[in-house]
Amino acid sequence: MSEFSAEFSKNLRAAGVVGAGGAGFPSYVKAQGKAEYALVNAAECEPLLKKDQKILERWPEKVFDGLDLLMGAVGASRGVLGIKRKHEKLIPRLKEIAKSRRNVSVLEMGDYYPAGDEQCLVYEAAGRVVPPGGIPLDVGCVVSNVETLYNAAFAPRPVTETFVTVNGGVKRPATFRVPVGVTWRECVERFCGGFTVKDPAYIDGGPMMGKVRTDFDLPLVKASGGIIVLPKDHPLIVKKAQGRPTFTRIGRSACDQCSYCTEFCPRYLLGHNVQPHRVMRTMLFSSGTEGHKLNSRYGLLCCECSLCSLYSCPEGLNPREACVAAKADLREAKIGFKNSGLDTGRKPEVHPVREFRKVPVSKLVRRLGLEDYNKDAPWTDETYRPSKVRILMAQHIGMPCLPAVKEGQRVEKGAVVGDVPADKLGCPVHASISGAVSRVNEKYVEITA
Ligand code: SF4
Ligand code: SF4
Repeated sequence: MSEFSAEFSKNLRAAGVVGAGGAGFPSYVKAQGKAEYALVNAAECEPLLKKDQKILERWPEKVFDGLDLLMGAVGASRGVLGIKRKHEKLIPRLKEIAKSRRNVSVLEMGDYYPAGDEQCLVYEAAGRVVPPGGIPLDVGCVVSNVETLYNAAFAPRPVTETFVTVNGGVKRPATFRVPVGVTWRECVERFCGGFTVKDPAYIDGGPMMGKVRTDFDLPLVKASGGIIVLPKDHPLIVKKAQGRPTFTRIGRSACDQCSYCTEFCPRYLLGHNVQPHRVMRTMLFSSGTEGHKLNSRYGLLCCECSLCSLYSCPEGLNPREACVAAKADLREAKIGFKNSGLDTGRKPEVHPVREFRKVPVSKLVRRLGLEDYNKDAPWTDETYRPSKVRILMAQHIGMPCLPAVKEGQRVEKGAVVGDVPADKLGCPVHASISGAVSRVNEKYVEITA
């Protein structure tokens, strides 16, 4: 590792920078790799979320600064920012900045889902297919999200705020920046004028890959990207909240093995052996039987994009959840891709019709029943000073933090309130406001202003 890479990676860890695209992978680890391409994932393909677009409208230079640093750390000779061409007002400015940076370009992509899947972006930007079970670094690429690079540009300044969009059933959909640890309820009330739907639920992280929740008092974390508020009985909420007994019972009786779920699967189209229609066959077998295990393997490389469940299946079934359940069963049986019998070691071949099976987001929004909720969520500059925040100890992939403060202690904004041992995967979390530590437990540190 070069001296620059070691320094940058140290700064990222100290700042607590994690992937802000939802996964929360600690960024310092990526900065320690070697890659030819550094890619900015600005595709933001989850319908109704806008925060990356708004960051790029306001602070494009900072995002390119973060990219420059990442390129320097991993030794990349090319930097590419991938963004949908529908942002035609923003793209000329991005291209102008890219021209002023060394070896950086802007890639315009169509408005389809999932353009932001990192393996799809790697293929579009570098023409390389990540090997099955592999990561972008295996083909000389490192991928970072817009907000992550924005935060990286300021490292070692601690990450104490997060950018989010609140859209759907609220009076004024909006995109804004708030201290980590405030609640979604505060966001809705303070920035969006309250709910417009009775009995609201929400999808945390976007309609496709996000999770259904009903508790608006949950605190935001560094990787929070936004929520879509919907009535609890909206078909999307009902479908996404289906439990295993329900999707198994319905799937067992209604799946006709048409294989549309497989034919549209973005990873299958990249040449990976993901076949959700075969995973659906597991419903005919009991969990743990040979028939169950043999077919479950075809879900191991599923990236959980939800396209099969929320778009492709003409019967409205839930192959995505079948894949998620299959992966869990195989994990328990200690079967991963490498020992599944599917790892042939052959180079994946991209499907010849991949280009024509990209799913337009406009069509997807209609299919999801979100047309009435698909509004702009303009940026609001308002600053929010909460009286209390809860900083969760588990905010990223890796080991959860251990509290580093005691009840009654005074902390300043930016102070470390939780950390992981240096030899473990993870990074610190910081106070997002100044105040007194009012509660400490293994789940969170509460600070009262
Ligand atoms: S698309 Fe639906 S019905 Fe067809 S195989 Fe997949 S799960 Fe079964
Ligand atoms: S969720 Fe469905 S479409 Fe998406 S990767 Fe998994 S199997 Fe393929």
